[in-house]
Amino acid sequence: MKRDTLVFDIIKKEHERQLGGIELIASENFVSEQVLEAMGSVMTNKYAEGYPGKRYYGGCQFVDQTEQLAIDRIKEIYGAEWANVQPHSGAQANAAVLSVILNPGDAFLGLDLSHGGHLSHGSPVNSSGILYNPIAYKVKEDTGLVDYDEMEALAIEHKPKLIIGGASAYSREWDYKRMREIADKIGALFMVDMAHPAGLIAAGLLDNPLKYAHVVTSTTHKTLRGPRGGIILIGKDFENPWGITTKKGEVRMMSSLLDSSVFPGQQGGPLEHVIAAKAVAFGEALLPEYKEYQAQVKKNAAVMAQAFVDLGYKVISGGTDNHSMLIDLRTKYPEITGKIVENTIVKAEITVNKNMVPFDSRSPFLTSGLRVGTPAITTRGVKEDLMPVIVQLIDDAIANIENEKMIHSIGEKVHSLMKDYPLFAY
Ligand code: PLP
Repeated sequence: MKRDTLVFDIIKKEHERQLGGIELIASENFVSEQVLEAMGSVMTNKYAEGYPGKRYYGGCQFVDQTEQLAIDRIKEIYGAEWANVQPHSGAQANAAVLSVILNPGDAFLGLDLSHGGHLSHGSPVNSSGILYNPIAYKVKEDTGLVDYDEMEALAIEHKPKLIIGGASAYSREWDYKRMREIADKIGALFMVDMAHPAGLIAAGLLDNPLKYAHVVTSTTHKTLRGPRGGIILIGKDFENPWGITTKKGEVRMMSSLLDSSVFPGQQGGPLEHVIAAKAVAFGEALLPEYKEYQAQVKKNAAVMAQAFVDLGYKVISGGTDNHSMLIDLRTKYPEITGKIVENTIVKAEITVNKNMVPFDSRSPFLTSGLRVGTPAITTRGVKEDLMPVIVQLIDDAIANIENEKMIHSIGEKVHSLMKDYPLFAY
């Protein structure tokens, strides 16, 4: 067959972009060669509706083995009692959980999108906001920390069936214990979406939400460093008799309801090539060097946040406990939007994303903030000594936003800097 050079030439350019630049998008990472290999394997050819040992197709004896490995390894990583590794994405995993716990119109609590929450935690344009009744809790304006007192007051007022913890742009540790207490007080279930810090939690560097939450969801491609996808986990509450009474009046355990909700509820055939890659990535997360990697991610983020503060930027909450930070540009550059900075520094070969800051005066299309993270550059071997250098390059680009020559020369510096940090052999 003739090679499709049109597509492969574009893929080559994307590869070069990834190699040449500084990747600071907090939700991105670089997978290992063996994760890529599994994703590009013949497992993609196989239909396997159902679960290991209970499929609707023949010939599943090998995909059963890789899927079971993925399940066993992810359970070992987080100390989970049960896992589903089939969700195609984090948003699918969340939708699957919500559809089990909530009926259309039911209230639930999630972090406000403009305060760091995720679309799938109640945005009006996502099924979570279209089908159900989301009530948003917020962070405090003075500290940038989640306002648990407000959360409790909202819980008592609205009696939601579900409280969701976890976020897309929140750099601090969560008080899962307090959230569980609030949920118990009103008889709600407690779900944590740990998509962002999942890798740090896997390495034991942040509190494990499985100790407190009834259900935990995650993506597999952010700090965790696996292929794109989702997972659902249940921890210590697994055997508790809090099975849900279905619309037909039967009581079924949460695990069985969640399995049915993923398939056939939300999805058809699982992506067995991605699940094989998940198994590989979870195997990597069990290795001792993974802990070192995550510790470096955290150290790099702390040093980077301090470097922004040292140059006069406001970092929301004053710093970070995890891999990410949210910069409020308004203190140093009140006229410049997140959108302009994102577009400019990408020309300087540095990728970040614009982000609303809590109580932002601008729209989500413009924003006053930047979200920055260290998982991807840390995978390339970049250590904390380079963080102030990178922050200085970002500041130089912002300070010279209209000077194309200067932006171009920063891009050249970035290229030569990253030559010392090769990205695998592929
Ligand atoms: N949950 C959180 C907290 C996220 O930050 C994201 C993605 O950014 C998701 C879920 C959704 O993941 P996906 O893009 O795989 O649907």
